[in-house]
Amino acid sequence: MIIDCHCHAGKGDGLTGPWDTDAPLTDYLEWAKEAGIQKTVIFAAFHSDYRVANREVASIVRKYPNRFYGFAFIHPERDRGRVYEMVKTAVQAYKFCGIKVHRYDARITREICEAARSFRLPILYDVMGEVAVVELLATQYPEVNFIIPHLGSFADDWKAQLALIDHLVRHPNIYTDTSGVRRFDILKKAFERVGAHKFLFGSDGPWLHPGVELAKIRALHLSVKEERMVLAANLLRLLSKAGAKASRVSGKAGAIPAGLPPSRYRDPWLAGQEVFGLT
Ligand SMILES: [Zn+2]
Repeated sequence: MIIDCHCHAGKGDGLTGPWDTDAPLTDYLEWAKEAGIQKTVIFAAFHSDYRVANREVASIVRKYPNRFYGFAFIHPERDRGRVYEMVKTAVQAYKFCGIKVHRYDARITREICEAARSFRLPILYDVMGEVAVVELLATQYPEVNFIIPHLGSFADDWKAQLALIDHLVRHPNIYTDTSGVRRFDILKKAFERVGAHKFLFGSDGPWLHPGVELAKIRALHLSVKEERMVLAANLLRLLSKAGAKASRVSGKAGAIPAGLPPSRYRDPWLAGQEVFGLT
């Protein structure tokens, strides 16, 4: 079982670059199939209204529920005051299981972290090299699991990537994904120092080729057990409590420990269930 934890989908409404214009999945799905990737976490491209963009992602997830997991894209500033309602809709109506936030939009807020805590969702927050905030996120919201993609910097900022390693080691609720990490020497060092339990395989499709990104994981020569963790089990563990009993009162949940994920987020490969492809 291989799950890509990071892929964009749907139309943006900008015209600045591919990232806010369109994230078509047609080629991506071919590439993923070739690479043996069975499932993918999808979230919107940049958009001026994430309520619209999340709805489009929801329509894709609804059509292929065995192929995709949906994350709700939230804008920290523009969506201020309505985050809880947006996340509630995402979880209850769209069956989404995570939140995506990008520093390019604005810095992450307490409102978002609290909504994530209420619905027990992981937050995939692209810090764009601003790694120091991870210290605050990890300690202020120990019950929330954060995935900091690209080892902290899509832009190959090696100082940021090195700095994230320390956070991955020290904070049980901080994870990273391997998408777009070009500096293989740093990636390798990070695995050695941190351990495979903190890494998720991701591609940043549809703009990056998931097979090329997957080759990086293979090139790390992990043990079979470690590779399973990176390719599926770590993510499934983070999703295992997603959407469980929404509550504004929280603090008890705690970072999700290792264990077998229940019900719909269980790894079908581990559980011996049939894996459905997109046909
Ligand atoms: Zn991305």
